[in-house]
Amino acid sequence: MSDAKKTEENTPKEPKTGAGRPSREQAEDAVRVLLRWAGDDPAREGLIDTPARVVRAYEEFFAGYDHDPREILSRTFSEVDGYDEMIVLKDIRFESYCEHHMVPIIGRAHVAYLPEHRVVGISKLARLVDAFAKRLQIQEKMTAQIADTLNEVLQPKGVGVILEAAHQCMSTRGVHKAGVTMVTSRMLGTFRSDPSTRREFLAIVGNPGVMSVPNT
Ligand SMILES: [Zn+2]
Repeated sequence: MSDAKKTEENTPKEPKTGAGRPSREQAEDAVRVLLRWAGDDPAREGLIDTPARVVRAYEEFFAGYDHDPREILSRTFSEVDGYDEMIVLKDIRFESYCEHHMVPIIGRAHVAYLPEHRVVGISKLARLVDAFAKRLQIQEKMTAQIADTLNEVLQPKGVGVILEAAHQCMSTRGVHKAGVTMVTSRMLGTFRSDPSTRREFLAIVGNPGVMSVPNT
């Protein structure tokens, strides 16, 4: 499968707004159902405002659906005075949500590229990570989405993305293993074909898997 095909499949096109989206009231009702399912009483004083708070929290947790990752990278700079070395943004903290259990995945992203002609403002790399993190995700897919989008929009010589994260679905339920970090990576272009480029990237970001990740 080509990289371009993968990108198409990996990138959600439909924003969450639009026809078929439930109303705020319906969403709050759904929270009341879950509160009852947990065994509590949504009508008791302490829980009265909880459905509204949860729905507002969801707006933050899943804000990524409202952002177009390609749009974030659309403003590029071509005047780089011949700069053609690796650009790395490391330790980008992200908060994402496991699509299987809807609990947090908290970690860091390291994003690098070797520019061909164009560079992008460095804060845009962090916003790109957030646009994909603030959705229901699996870490492997999120890693590929970040790398493929960067590759497609900037068309650099290469892209490297490493994600290290702790999954609350492993620490607070299921096997209950705290302190476990999952590391995923995607290397494209020279990051894949040139071992020295890959080594340079890995040296800059330290030693993924050994670095501490907030294990909340
Ligand atoms: Zn999970």
